[in-house]
Amino acid sequence: MTDHRYLARPRDIEVHRNRLSGAVIIFDENGDEFEHTIPIVWEVCPTCEGRGTYVNPDIDSHGLSREDFDADPDFLDDYMEGRYDITCRECGGEKVVPEPAPHSEVGKLWLSQEGERARDRAEDAYTMRMENGGRD
Ligand SMILES: [Zn+2]
Repeated sequence: MTDHRYLARPRDIEVHRNRLSGAVIIFDENGDEFEHTIPIVWEVCPTCEGRGTYVNPDIDSHGLSREDFDADPDFLDDYMEGRYDITCRECGGEKVVPEPAPHSEVGKLWLSQEGERARDRAEDAYTMRMENGGRD
């Protein structure tokens, strides 16, 4: 299982200055790209759950155990203080992310196309890790 933090990336919505709409790329049935403007809403970032930061997944994505903390007494303090925190890669520390407004038909189409692209990226990331001798 890939840690969701490794897959976090900014949304492909180019938010307009008014923060009420944004531009997205939609592919038509011929695979041609079209830019559309869609209404957007702001949602709490699902990756950092609205904190704007999270613990670097290199530190704890495989789970930490009692031994990890016992081995280095300072580690727990550093960990709790957020010394290993990094800025959220999805929202860039903004704590909220743009989502297509629920009533937007183009927004729904874009979301489904984004879902397919996210799956492709997750598979690519998995393949790359396995090729580099990684473990599940
Ligand atoms: Zn975030």
